[in-house]
Amino acid sequence: MWTVEMHGVCKHYQLDQITVPALQDVALAIRPGGFTVLAGPSGSGKTTLLNLIGGVDRPDAGSILVAGQDIVHLGDDALSDFRARHIGFIFQNFNLLPVLSAYENVEYPLILNRVPAPERKGRVMELLDAVGLSDKARNRPGQLSGGQRQRVAIARALAHRPSLVLADEPTANLDSQTGAAILALLRDLQRQYQLTVVFSSHDPQVIAAADDRYQVRDGRVSYQRQIEKEIA
Ligand code: ADP
Ligand code: ADP
Repeated sequence: MWTVEMHGVCKHYQLDQITVPALQDVALAIRPGGFTVLAGPSGSGKTTLLNLIGGVDRPDAGSILVAGQDIVHLGDDALSDFRARHIGFIFQNFNLLPVLSAYENVEYPLILNRVPAPERKGRVMELLDAVGLSDKARNRPGQLSGGQRQRVAIARALAHRPSLVLADEPTANLDSQTGAAILALLRDLQRQYQLTVVFSSHDPQVIAAADDRYQVRDGRVSYQRQIEKEIA
């Protein structure tokens, strides 16, 4: 089981002569097996936060522990190994490879992780089945709807059996009905595979579906109780 812990995390970007503060003194703790949202408007720092948790980027200061492991002080190779083994990423724009079929998109991370071919096939078909797309295995992304593309992307994110799944605005490019279905699917898979899921959103309906919520505003992060859930 996994947890994410951050203390005193700061991050800025340098744009020519301008320093853009992205995150300031962030502390958070994400419980294992949780369905946690990072809620906040565009530009508030959500993507930066997800990139730091996923080891895509490094902080200027502070500590980041993922499953008790200090990822800030890992070397570049160890960090990319950590990412490839343990983290699944889902994006707003799906980020599928357009020339590959749905099947091949899901298989790709398994090839990178050197999973043997016979095992790959079983896992790809299991995941396409889990996201309801067994019959679309041969379709390329261009032949799929937005919701179907995100389903492929979710299958791909889970293919290497990560424990932590990070989803950056996974429903932002979908209509609200399709977005709700994608969120429900993520929730089902989170329970089925006992994943820790952290996703970002600026949509109140999506935010309300989470168990735990961190509010991100101008690079500052605070824990918020999920009031809607408690009433429901
Ligand atoms: P969100 O995901 O909530 O939209 P981001 O983490 O993308 O927020 O951005 C946080 C802040 O950092 C914003 O002010 C944004 O303009 C800035 N920022 C993000 N990425 C870069 C970058 N590569 N270079 C310069 N500024 C950036
Ligand atoms: P190998 O025989 O080399 O192990 P596979 O049988 O796993 O290869 O698959 C070879 C290619 O055939 C895959 O990259 C994929 O594009 C396609 N493929 C395999 N199984 C399916 C399937 N059930 N549905 C759609 N395409 C498939």
